[in-house]
Amino acid sequence: MDFARIRKFTYIINTVILLLVIALAGFFVLCRATILIWFSIPTLMIYIIGYILISKERLDIYVRLVYFWITLYMCLCTLCLGYKLGFHLYCFSMIPIIFYTEYMADKLGKPKINAFVASGIIALCYLLSTGYTAFTGPLYSIDNNMAGSFWAFNSVIVLAFLVYYSRLMLSLIGDYENKLQKTALTDRLTGLYNRHYMMKELESSMKNGGSLFISMIDIDDFKMINDRYGHNAGDYVLVNVSRIMHEVCSDCRISRWGGEEFLVLSSGRNREDFIALIETLRKRVDAEDLVFGDDHIKVSVTAGIGDYTVGITVDRWVKAADDNLYTGKKSGKNKVIA
Ligand code: GH3
Ligand code: MG
Ligand code: MG
Repeated sequence: MDFARIRKFTYIINTVILLLVIALAGFFVLCRATILIWFSIPTLMIYIIGYILISKERLDIYVRLVYFWITLYMCLCTLCLGYKLGFHLYCFSMIPIIFYTEYMADKLGKPKINAFVASGIIALCYLLSTGYTAFTGPLYSIDNNMAGSFWAFNSVIVLAFLVYYSRLMLSLIGDYENKLQKTALTDRLTGLYNRHYMMKELESSMKNGGSLFISMIDIDDFKMINDRYGHNAGDYVLVNVSRIMHEVCSDCRISRWGGEEFLVLSSGRNREDFIALIETLRKRVDAEDLVFGDDHIKVSVTAGIGDYTVGITVDRWVKAADDNLYTGKKSGKNKVIA
């Protein structure tokens, strides 16, 4: 989750808490719980200040302030109205958020709170406030029906929050996993599969068998492109050649095999069709007008075809394509050798 998303999420949380505080203030009026009615005023102020802190990106101060205040509010509600109303349950929702907040602050390089210490303090406040009212009873007496309804309301809010939070955590873990997997399998510059992934693809496609062909494709005189137009122009050429390969063969598995070398795997085509496809690719690259700044860069590729035969090893299959590529390079480049 990036900072903008965290900020949006915090705005939502702040608004939800603010609405809850207003609703609870109404309830305190009904119960004639004078201490809590007066306490609702600074509480509302805290959440209004919260909006300012979030907008000024002072989430570190906001988090400390809100945690401190919620703990205080929860303890005071428990002391005044008793633990039967379930205000103490909010402790259980605060502890996972504290750990998440510490983790995110660390990740974003922002000042962080010590989650162990903070949850220890919350746990202690929970024990003291509920323990005290368990022995002495609450300051204000409340009708049992009302206490029960409140217990149900608070329980539902805390449980709903825990369910939502757990789902959010799982979806975040899923996002990170996908990102990691993508980074592990693809080349950062071109977005193509990397060599490691392609080796696995070659092995698994060989197991399934069928009509398989590969082509090793190498950009001609790429060093000269780098030397003449600069490394960024070279990168631009790599990205565009990759794009053309995708456009010409959307169903092929295409990888960046090395610096300016690509390996294309096709299944389900016959030999002539695959050679014609790679020939189309070569022509498309040759005809492309690549403009980088003021320069028009002329690019061509040489390709070697590798035929799959039953029982061949991946290394020999790739070498067959490599040998053809070598022949193409030696005999003038910008051609397809099968
Ligand atoms: P040939 O026609 O025989 O293939 O010659 P070539 O110049 O294309 O081949 P050579 O192996 O001499 O040079 C490849 C160059 O590719 C050298 C290296 O600096 C460059 N290169 C490798 N990876 C990258 C990259 O990610 N970006 C850029 N800009 N250049 C790269
Ligand atoms: Mg080259
Ligand atoms: Mg090369």
